[in-house]
Amino acid sequence: MSIEEIFAQIARGEGDADVVYESENVVAFRDINPQAPVHVLVIPRRQIPTLQDLTPEDGDLLGEMFTAAREVARREGIAESGYRTIFNCGPDGGQEVYHLHLHVVGGRPLKWPPG
Ligand code: 5GP
Repeated sequence: MSIEEIFAQIARGEGDADVVYESENVVAFRDINPQAPVHVLVIPRRQIPTLQDLTPEDGDLLGEMFTAAREVARREGIAESGYRTIFNCGPDGGQEVYHLHLHVVGGRPLKWPPG
């Protein structure tokens, strides 16, 4: 099974994932290879490969993804200490899984700029 199919299963609520938040159109679950004490991925239930595939009609969906990120940060106790939200897009952006996902990373000071 491809990683995209694994994410699609998780998006349908059928996959094997550590889900920390769900709403009508998005699911948030822990990254299998965390880069920080908190590393959660927010994905849409609908299969969208990359940020480039979004249209102006997807504004509400993006809002729901960032609302989920805020709620994850609150539940994980990093709302005050701070965190980073990241969409990796395409090969140069370091995207490995072509099911749109918003990384929520925190729980330690993060360096800038990224590599
Ligand atoms: P990308 O590089 O595409 O922005 O990020 C993909 C992320 O998905 C990586 O951080 C990777 O650790 C995570 N990942 C890959 N396969 C799985 C999986 O099967 N389950 C979970 N929970 N995370 C995964």
